[in-house]
Amino acid sequence: MRVLPFSHGELTSRITGIGGPQAAPEQIFSLLNKYKISPTRQRIKIAQVLLTCHTHKSADQILEEVNRERAYVSKATVYNTLNLFVKKGLVKEVVIDPSKVFYDSNTSQHHHFYNEENGELHDVDLDKITVAKLPEPPEGTEVQCVEVVVRVRKRNPAG
Ligand SMILES: [Zn+2]
Repeated sequence: MRVLPFSHGELTSRITGIGGPQAAPEQIFSLLNKYKISPTRQRIKIAQVLLTCHTHKSADQILEEVNRERAYVSKATVYNTLNLFVKKGLVKEVVIDPSKVFYDSNTSQHHHFYNEENGELHDVDLDKITVAKLPEPPEGTEVQCVEVVVRVRKRNPAG
């Protein structure tokens, strides 16, 4: 398992500790440095949207939020930056299916509820799900982690 410089809790308190609803650019700046990501203005803006509060956002949602006030960043830059953040371990990628990829600021191991109707993703603590049986992993590989997506929908009132 990868060991991260600090846990999500620490990350959140680091960011929300000083600046209220939006993390200060200087905080993001030092955080990016810590993850060995060179902090360009665009990366700081994207990290700010992604890390200020814990959510699961799609690349398109991030794109929209980053450019809400004025056009800061192109779509390609957002995608490239998100890939870089994932590679460096700053955020985690949660792939529901190829058209539904979320970026998660909680980088610790955990499971998710995925609501098929509204497309929302919610965290489930690691110890809330036990996987009783796993097949032998393919030759030459080992199980790195098991993260489960539980798909939910609105209960049918008729039962
Ligand atoms: Zn999550």
